[in-house]
Amino acid sequence: MDELLELYETMGISPAVYAYGERALEKLKDRFTAIDQIAEYNQAKVLWAMQKNRVSAACFAATTGYGYDDYGRDNLERVYADVFHTEAALVRPQITCGTHALTVALSANLLPGDELMSPVGMPYDTLQEVIGIRESPCSLKEYGVSYRQVDLLPDGSFDYDSIRKAINEKTKLITIQRSKGYATRPTFSVKQIGELIAFCKSVKPDVLVMVDNCYGEFVETIEPSDVGADMTVGSLIKNPGGGLAPIGGYIAGTKVCVERCAYRLSAPGLGQEVGANLGLMPALYQGFFLAPTVVASAEKGAIFAANLYEPLGFRCVPGADEDRHDIIQAVELGSEAGMVAFCKGIQAAAPVDSFATPYPSDMPGYNDKVIMAAGAFVQGSSIELSADGPIRPPYAVYFQGGLTWNHAKIGILMSLQKMADAGLVQL
Ligand SMILES: *Cc1c(COP(=O)(O)O)cnc(C)c1O
Repeated sequence: MDELLELYETMGISPAVYAYGERALEKLKDRFTAIDQIAEYNQAKVLWAMQKNRVSAACFAATTGYGYDDYGRDNLERVYADVFHTEAALVRPQITCGTHALTVALSANLLPGDELMSPVGMPYDTLQEVIGIRESPCSLKEYGVSYRQVDLLPDGSFDYDSIRKAINEKTKLITIQRSKGYATRPTFSVKQIGELIAFCKSVKPDVLVMVDNCYGEFVETIEPSDVGADMTVGSLIKNPGGGLAPIGGYIAGTKVCVERCAYRLSAPGLGQEVGANLGLMPALYQGFFLAPTVVASAEKGAIFAANLYEPLGFRCVPGADEDRHDIIQAVELGSEAGMVAFCKGIQAAAPVDSFATPYPSDMPGYNDKVIMAAGAFVQGSSIELSADGPIRPPYAVYFQGGLTWNHAKIGILMSLQKMADAGLVQL
């Protein structure tokens, strides 16, 4: 396609970079087909939940003020509960981000004297202040909730012996992070998470399990809620918002846990009854409807990136041929210059703010300087094509998103172009 090559050259992608990408793509056909099959299943799952709950135009009406009797909001929560196969769900624009959703889930279900335990090592950066691993006002630690952690074994597997020993009479809630976050450990499959949950509950049957499901939704046909999680938690500006939700978070789980979350989010006594939808229901419904195919696009982008960069000598997590359990691709670029060049490419390929130049800077909630490339319709949305990472060895960039596969592809080619322009790769 000469006209495509011509347009790509106009945009700054050289024929050499394009050709290198096409060679990598040739061997990915079967994997892309498998991803499309998962998307088809998840599309049917979401569609069926919407049909079963009789979604209609009445669901899209805006409410204001207290938001009493908000039919659209309540029905969206039933749709989520049906997709996650849970008794209940809390899905709200008042949940400001993923960290907030996780904070609500934790603080609603942990009381002074209780202990929180992570059997999968250090939690995501922003949660460290929530828990009090790094001191912060209003941390769980300040409220008298203690924390214990069991690290993964060197090969990335669960340290069952130490987990058994760490669970004690105070252990109230176990938190499992599905995605690797800013670490280079593997992301867990839902099946693995199920095995870990079963083990923890065999040691202590009444322990609650929360799964941080950020970036994992719709990558597989099952979710952590299908394998015993009491709460499954995530952000609507990641996978389940489908790129259309402008804000929000969700907690899907047992009635008892979700009710407590609602009391924590609003106020004791008020719970799920209040919280106007402010006209966001069309975006939240439609975004959830699109999410399975958006996630598939992002996942294809992640696989494509690994298949471009790994042969060039950069370690990729997951590896080019590895199975996927989230949409994140870590590429270890080995230097700050590599991270900057990669992120410049992603930024240059964005539909919004393509003219901006990303550079490392301090971010609230993060310990190291962070570089972020995002030219998103929704600020900071990482289901949209984005790349970021803390400036620390092994200088890994975490690449994710892409509302369409075609855009993800262009972004990755552009990142490679910037790496080539900076003399950091030789094609
Ligand atoms: C993104 C993310 C969070 C936090 O979500 P924010 O919306 O950025 O607050 C928590 N855990 C994991 C694994 C994440 O990827």
